[in-house]
Amino acid sequence: MHLDGALRTGTLFRFAEEQGRLSPGETLETFDDRVRAAPGCTTLEEFLKPFDLLGPLLSAKGTMVRAAHEVVVDLHAQGVIHAEPRFAPSLMTSPGRSVDDVVDEALEGLRRGIAETGMSAGLILCIFRAGSPEDAASTVRAAIRRRDHGVVGIDLAGPEACPAAPFLHAFRMARDAGLGITLHAGEACGPENIAEAVDAFGATRIGHGLTLWKDPALLARIVDADVAIESCPTSNIHTGQVRNLTEHPFRRYLDAGAALTLSTDDPALSRITSCSEWAACAAAFGLDRNDFLTLNRNAIRHAFVSPGVRAALERRLETPT
Ligand SMILES: [Zn+2]
Repeated sequence: MHLDGALRTGTLFRFAEEQGRLSPGETLETFDDRVRAAPGCTTLEEFLKPFDLLGPLLSAKGTMVRAAHEVVVDLHAQGVIHAEPRFAPSLMTSPGRSVDDVVDEALEGLRRGIAETGMSAGLILCIFRAGSPEDAASTVRAAIRRRDHGVVGIDLAGPEACPAAPFLHAFRMARDAGLGITLHAGEACGPENIAEAVDAFGATRIGHGLTLWKDPALLARIVDADVAIESCPTSNIHTGQVRNLTEHPFRRYLDAGAALTLSTDDPALSRITSCSEWAACAAAFGLDRNDFLTLNRNAIRHAFVSPGVRAALERRLETPT
């Protein structure tokens, strides 16, 4: 789940007000349309449009403390027991606010949320695929410095048509430092990007992996290697990758024994919640209680956490209160 795609409209409205970014006469209702994807949206360009505003809004000092805090509180309210929200700090810098400052704000907000809810959580920092290798290196350095203080992994996100290769060095640094590795791959492009993410980048989790079914040999390899597939089905409709849930390979992956997980990607943009996504997918894919447990066991097995936290999460899942 992208942290910047999961924020309350009211909070963003307040940020816009403080920064003088509201249009004359703008109300919470009209503003809502600017920070969420258009209802019925089915193209990636249309879906990503709110980020043109979200990036600048979150580039002001202090905003990420509140944003990260609220995300943890909101997830806890939906029954989530562990979260690893992600964002690209290089897209939220401004004069006097470095990548390190952005990450420290988010960690402060995360800590407040954890203290308030008792949830566990860690941050994944995204390298922006359309950005520079220099930004990637500063993102990874910021992550390594905070590896024992709440940053748990590195992701590659953004337009998938941009080549991943320029970021290989940054990912090697992250891997050598013991950070978790996940890459968005096979969302808007073919399964060759999934193979690259696993073989060259050392990813143990793949964001979306939507086109994996097109290469059955690779699917079998991913199942054998127990690489997680972070599935976000409703997002795939909104970005125009599938027309509806019936077309989605979710069931196929689950039946193949893949380490499939279920998440929301950008819940605020998609106007969904974790609960509504579980309900929609349970209905569309015929998920029963065993499937629910399997998907969450997969998520816990692949969470970027210490063995102690993993064991505690497993106990929580198997003995719900
Ligand atoms: Zn994503």
